[in-house]
Amino acid sequence: MGLEGLHVTAVRREPDLLTVTVESGPVPTGCPTCGTVAEAHSRRVVRLVDAPCFDTPVVLIWRKRRYRCREGACEMATFTEQLPDLVRPRGLLTTRAARWAIGQIRSEHASVQGVARQLGVRWRTVWSAIKPILTASAADETRFAGVATLGVDEHVWHHVSTKPVADGGRGPKELTGMVDLSTDENGQVRARLLDLVQGRTRAAYADWLQARGEQFRAAVDVATLDPFQGYKSAIDEELADATAVLDAFHVVALGTRCVDEVRRRVQQATTGHRGRKGDPLYGIQTILRAGQENLTDKQRARIERAFAVREEHDAVDLTWQ
Ligand SMILES: [Zn+2]
Repeated sequence: MGLEGLHVTAVRREPDLLTVTVESGPVPTGCPTCGTVAEAHSRRVVRLVDAPCFDTPVVLIWRKRRYRCREGACEMATFTEQLPDLVRPRGLLTTRAARWAIGQIRSEHASVQGVARQLGVRWRTVWSAIKPILTASAADETRFAGVATLGVDEHVWHHVSTKPVADGGRGPKELTGMVDLSTDENGQVRARLLDLVQGRTRAAYADWLQARGEQFRAAVDVATLDPFQGYKSAIDEELADATAVLDAFHVVALGTRCVDEVRRRVQQATTGHRGRKGDPLYGIQTILRAGQENLTDKQRARIERAFAVREEHDAVDLTWQ
């Protein structure tokens, strides 16, 4: 299980879900208010989302202990067990799932939305679970040592309202992520996510660079960026000595945008209107955005058919290639 003090009492395996029931062993527990040794009272069953195991979603059923304080004068009548290593209070995602999510964002270029989908929860749930971990690691300045190549990346969250959180909105729409792209002693690119800050503006990145201090900025030789001009200005201002380059990831993104534009143009020229259901070029835009190497045979066939319908479609095909 990898979780200290927890026993697995049941495992249920279904084709697309693994349900693991866990509970802690009986240990003497003091009342958090008065310190008197408390007595076992009852159990509360909590359902937690854990990190996927072999691509299968995992749900933990935690039979959480409930205690009663024996001290009659104490105002704490009953209280429930807290295992911060397992999950933060009132959290839905286990700490392990939160770390897994950060790993996905960090090394797989996953979006928070994508990670949320894989875990079967809302992005907000992922965000509230990973934020304290990111904040805690943000306090640890050692990870900023030796960053020679610094990447900056926008993470756009879809289906998020722009309304302020105070008015019932669903929080930030864009985040800026800083990635350490330095090469380690074995010649491997580290690709560590250093930080995530709200917003996708020049100021978001410039403020972050400012906060890192002179020594950090002086150590950065190469600063990669996405094609957003704001980041470029921040690099020019804060990292004057570093070489700014477009990173490969965003070159791919630029290429994708290019295919999109040509597809739209050809669509307009051949049909005289924007893409509609039933048009050969309509409905393949998502497939075109995926890398060719990721396509299934079915998707490949669909693209082939769409391109084959008219000669003019060759332009889209060529750009895509
Ligand atoms: Zn008490």
